[in-house]
Amino acid sequence: MASLSAYIERSSTIDLLMRLLEVPGLSGQETAISQAVQAELIAAGVPATSMFNDDAHSRIDLPCEIGNLFVQLPGTKPGPRIMFSTHLDTVPICQGAKPILKDGQICTDGSTGLGGDNRTGCAVLISTVAALLKHQLPHPPITLLFTIREESGIQGARYLDTKAVSDVEMCFNFDGKVPAELVTGAVGQETFYVEITGLASHAGVAPEQGISATLIASKAIADVHAQGWFGKIQKPDGYGTSNIGIFGGKKGLAAGDATNVVTDYVYLKGEARSHDAEFNSRITAAFQAAFEKAVNEVVTIDGQRATLKFTIHKAYPPFHLEDHSPVVMRAVDAAKFIGMSPITKSSNGGLDANWLVKHGVPTVTMGAGQHEIHTIKEFINLDEFMDGCQLALAIATQCGQE
Ligand SMILES: [Zn+2]
Repeated sequence: MASLSAYIERSSTIDLLMRLLEVPGLSGQETAISQAVQAELIAAGVPATSMFNDDAHSRIDLPCEIGNLFVQLPGTKPGPRIMFSTHLDTVPICQGAKPILKDGQICTDGSTGLGGDNRTGCAVLISTVAALLKHQLPHPPITLLFTIREESGIQGARYLDTKAVSDVEMCFNFDGKVPAELVTGAVGQETFYVEITGLASHAGVAPEQGISATLIASKAIADVHAQGWFGKIQKPDGYGTSNIGIFGGKKGLAAGDATNVVTDYVYLKGEARSHDAEFNSRITAAFQAAFEKAVNEVVTIDGQRATLKFTIHKAYPPFHLEDHSPVVMRAVDAAKFIGMSPITKSSNGGLDANWLVKHGVPTVTMGAGQHEIHTIKEFINLDEFMDGCQLALAIATQCGQE
């Protein structure tokens, strides 16, 4: 690889990552990790006055301690402001993780996740700024964004202070596995919630006087499946996926509570994903129509019907960046400069990038060695992590374009 590796010292950068992995940071509880990131940046020479937490938490409808962390650095050469982003929070399985360094990897003792998703990203951003300052490498104005609550529905990026990114031309989001795989598009998602209130009756004595909410929901799901709108969806005019993930009763309990009672209530939660926002809405509309139809097909002996409450929530929008767009070209050129063979790809999951693009900031996402994320087998490949650090530095210094 080209000479940039000389600016990123391997053992101290891995030490930085190990320190960040030890800091807890569940979604909504990011104070400790936000402060740890700021302390590392200050130690690297970043003025404390360049950092602030925004007020995203005041707009998020879930408990939050703090907002997103922003760092704004002036450029040492002219050019449009670029941003590097990553998320601060980790998923619950990572709670209590004790990182172990061995054989070119960081892993755990197998009882927890690790939190490489996304402390690798946090370490990449810090190491990049540290290298720029230490070696006085010329760079354009740079913003760092460390988001909150990415793992709980991409909330921090969704509700960030858009004034703080109004002068940002493009963004590079570190949140993934392989550095050379540049994610330039992602699906959008709609979530739907279904409540069916039927009518209880003795299942042995007078089932015809009851309305089974279980039967209605089952008929609806079977109907959606028969029409090709369940699971993997491939229609002539679009494709996507759908699922019912929760099928239960009140307050997380089972639907119904005895075999001799007609089940009078069910609650379902499902999702639809597509790269096409309009097609995504058609998937959820197909579910709604099937539930409405099923309600009308299950009637008591005296003509009563269940009531249906069907609610749709647009979780995040899809996006797609062209290969010749400036943000993609900058990432591709930097990757080639350090000897990688970059490819562009699309993601079937949502990312902070979905909302950053919606806020007007074209964003490419790339990895820094996370593996088996959200499981107890999680580990970090340190060669890939170091490659991610190099890639960020190449982007920051615009190597490969000049
Ligand atoms: Zn992540």
